[in-house]
Amino acid sequence: MDSQAGVEFYSGILLPDMVNAHCHLELSYMKGRIPPGGGFTAFAKGMGTARTGVTPEQRVAAAEDADAALWCQGVGAVGDVCNGDSTFALKRRSRIGYTNFLELFGMNTVSADTLSELEREAAGMGLRAGITPHSTYSLRDGAFVSAVRTGTDSVPLSVHFMESPSEKELFEGRGEMHEWYVERGTPIDFGRYRTPAGRIAACVPAARDILLVHDCCVTEEDVDTVMRHFTGRVTWVLCPRSNRYISGLVPPVELLRGKGVNIAIGTDSLASNESLSMIDELKALRGVPLEEALTWVTEGGAASLGIDDRIGVFEPGRRSGAVLLEGVDMEHMELTANSRTRRIL
Ligand SMILES: [Zn+2]
Repeated sequence: MDSQAGVEFYSGILLPDMVNAHCHLELSYMKGRIPPGGGFTAFAKGMGTARTGVTPEQRVAAAEDADAALWCQGVGAVGDVCNGDSTFALKRRSRIGYTNFLELFGMNTVSADTLSELEREAAGMGLRAGITPHSTYSLRDGAFVSAVRTGTDSVPLSVHFMESPSEKELFEGRGEMHEWYVERGTPIDFGRYRTPAGRIAACVPAARDILLVHDCCVTEEDVDTVMRHFTGRVTWVLCPRSNRYISGLVPPVELLRGKGVNIAIGTDSLASNESLSMIDELKALRGVPLEEALTWVTEGGAASLGIDDRIGVFEPGRRSGAVLLEGVDMEHMELTANSRTRRIL
C-alpha cells in the first residue's frame, strides 16, 4: 500500500470503543483463587474464603491493573458491580466511563437503605451509580423490592439471572442451593413467584431498564415472561468464559438470537475468568456471525448502559475512541486464536 504523509495504515477491523457490560473490578485480586469447574454452589461458597489474606492496598492495585488492561484493549465503558467503595477513587481518575451497580446482596439483608450512603458517596465523586438487587435467589422478598425502588431510577438495574439450574430449582423447593439454605436455616419467602423470571416480572416496574446477566438456564418461556412485562430496555448479557470457568454451562445464544432480543457481553470478574478480554469472550461463543458479535461488544453494550448517545458507534458528536481488531480470518470473517484488540486512539 502506498504511504502517505500523515496517514497511518493498519491491517484489521476498526472498531469504536468496546463496552464490557458486566464486570466486578473490585474482585480483580481474586484471580486464580477459586479453582475452575467446581460448580455454581461451590463457587459461591468459595467466594467467602477466597476474600481473606489480602490487604486493601493489594485489592486496589489489582483493580488498577485491570482498569489499565481494559483501556489498552479498547474498552471505553464498563457496567461494574460494586459491594463497596474500594474502586471509586481509581474510577474517578480512569479514562473509562463506569456505570456502577451498587449491589444489594444477602438473605439476612432487610432493605437497601444500607446502600443509600454508598450511592451518595459515588454521586459526590462524580461517578454514575445506582442500587440494584444481586439476583433473584440471594435476597428475601422485602429486600429485593427495596433494592429495585431505593435511590435513582436513571441507572439501569443489573441482575445476575439464571446462572445455574439451582436458581430455578430453589423456587421449586429442591436442588443444591435449596439444601444449602435449609442447612443454614435461611427462610425462603419468594417461592410464590414460581420462577426467577416470574419474580422479576412481579417486582420490577415495567419501565425500568434492566440487564439480565448470564442467562445460562433461561427457556423460551422465561424470555417471553420477561419481554411481555417490560417497556424499558431489557439486555441479555452473556459472560461465556465465566460460565465455562464455574460450571461448564453455555449460554443459550441461539435461543436469544432467535428471539431478536438485545444482547451484550461481559467478562464477569477475574474470580471466574483468566482475563477481561472482550474478544476472548466472543471466541467462546460459537457460530455467531462476526459482524453481529462485534455489535454486542460495542453498540449493544453502550445501549444496555443507556450511554449509546455518547459511544458505541462512529458518528459525529460521539466521543468514541478507535480500536484495532487484529488477527481475523478475513476470508471467512472469523476470529482466530490470534485475534486481539488494541486501542489506537
Ligand atoms: Zn457477576
